[in-house]
Amino acid sequence: MLMGIKAMDENRERRGEISRMIETQLKRRGIRKPEVLEVFQRIPRHLFVPGRHQVEAYGDFPLPIGSGQTISQPFVIALMLEYLNLEPHHHVLEVGTGSGYATALLSSMVAWVDSVEFYQSLLDEVDARLEQVQITNCALFHGNGWEGPPAKKLYDRIVVWASPNQVPENLVRALKPDGRMVVPVGKGDQRLYIITQSAGKVQKEFVDWVRFVPLINGDPL
Ligand code: SAH
Repeated sequence: MLMGIKAMDENRERRGEISRMIETQLKRRGIRKPEVLEVFQRIPRHLFVPGRHQVEAYGDFPLPIGSGQTISQPFVIALMLEYLNLEPHHHVLEVGTGSGYATALLSSMVAWVDSVEFYQSLLDEVDARLEQVQITNCALFHGNGWEGPPAKKLYDRIVVWASPNQVPENLVRALKPDGRMVVPVGKGDQRLYIITQSAGKVQKEFVDWVRFVPLINGDPL
């Protein structure tokens, strides 16, 4: 009985924290799309960070998740979800599963997500987290995103959560003809681009400055 009440209190507290995060970090900075704001309410970020960081899970910053990697800042994820212009029927490729938080957000918005991660040790944690939030419309792959998608398939949308020094060609080739990719490029302060292609010509639109961990090239660990 006591346990039940404590769990209920915790739940209420978390819902409050999530609502405050959405209000102060997302809405006030211009995130407008209702379908983006809605998934942040639905997927609890604290379930995707290591235990010792759970108290700061709703802070306005990235947090360490192991293997020198981080779970991205909520605002930057929201911004990229807006730039992706997602539709419910879309098939999405995600490079950099990390904690699986963005995988859960994306999967809540589209038909299917293929997600590829360089570190097996990070992936090991993700299945159980996705199960906890009842996400089943995604597949996780261990691999190197530079090499293109893990499945032989074209995608409506591609999102890259780590920064390459140039746009990986193999990813551009995996876009459907009217597809779109959102990807940071460069070192230090990075340029965020929306990549589209029409009539075989690749278009690159600069939209923002961001900071991500580097996209690693090599044999996946
Ligand atoms: N969206 C994730 C972001 C994690 S940070 C989250 O919010 O948790 C970026 C991730 O990209 C890291 O997990 C890192 O290991 C992964 N990564 C880096 N280089 C990669 C590559 N070449 N292929 C696949 N994943 C890569």
